[in-house]
Amino acid sequence: MIINEYIAELKQLLMHERSQAKTIGFVPTMGALHPGHLELMKQAKKENDILVASIFVNPIQFNNPEDLKKYPRTFETDRQMLEDIGCDFLFYPSAEEIYPEPDNTYYDFGALAQCMEGEKRPGHFNGVAIVVRKLFDIVEPDKAYFGEKDFQQLAIIQALVRKLNMPVQVIPCPIVREVDGLAMSSRNMRLSKEARQEAPFIYETLKRAITLFPTYSPEALKHWVAGQFENKETFTVDYIEIADTTELQAVHNWEDASGISLFVAVFLEEVRLIDNIRII
Ligand code: AMP
Repeated sequence: MIINEYIAELKQLLMHERSQAKTIGFVPTMGALHPGHLELMKQAKKENDILVASIFVNPIQFNNPEDLKKYPRTFETDRQMLEDIGCDFLFYPSAEEIYPEPDNTYYDFGALAQCMEGEKRPGHFNGVAIVVRKLFDIVEPDKAYFGEKDFQQLAIIQALVRKLNMPVQVIPCPIVREVDGLAMSSRNMRLSKEARQEAPFIYETLKRAITLFPTYSPEALKHWVAGQFENKETFTVDYIEIADTTELQAVHNWEDASGISLFVAVFLEEVRLIDNIRII
């Protein structure tokens, strides 16, 4: 695996691969890799000639400085994991390399960026869009892989690609879970032993919730989910939403859309965890 920190060098290397008609699959990450990330890598490897991964903790997508400071950084184990699955190129730039000067581009994603994560984390998706655009310009992938765990992020990236007519195919990948159902996340390693034991309650609640469809209305179902978390004092709900799977807007009737999911964000101790499940 070739590890590169510099845009110009990586572009040169990838140009050479492209000149041999090789297709490029790309998986951008913020590191602290886990098997969820590796599933994206494996799929990208299978569907392309070359796998490029990136590790970059993007400062401008953190609306909370404390969250940025505490974001886990485990470069040595990440590197080993990528070697083991046969990753070809790892792009590992510094913040100065990506942002030689501040990038103040503003992307208007309309309502898509104003609900759920967008509402609770102001500026987050603009920061994601800025860095993903830069990374796509650098790597010029044929296909880029994103997890449905960050469902709204995936929708934002699809919107970005459409808006800018970028020649990349965005591939959604299913959520990878621990055996006890907890959605894998780099943030899980910040949970205390006690909190880690409580954490599977999130997915258990989502699974129980969908059994109440269609008896409960969307409003009643959200209320039921809120009640489950209120009974557990270790959890604080940030939001619970039932929304369509394309525009991510709240639905009020089950007939409002053909694809509908339940989305939650909760704090467990001070760690913020998100998850979602398809209803229809
Ligand atoms: P991150 O490093 O957290 O920014 O994640 C990098 C990519 O991996 C994003 O596309 C995430 O959606 C995806 N990802 C993270 N956790 C999971 C998971 N448990 N299952 C599937 N994809 C995931």
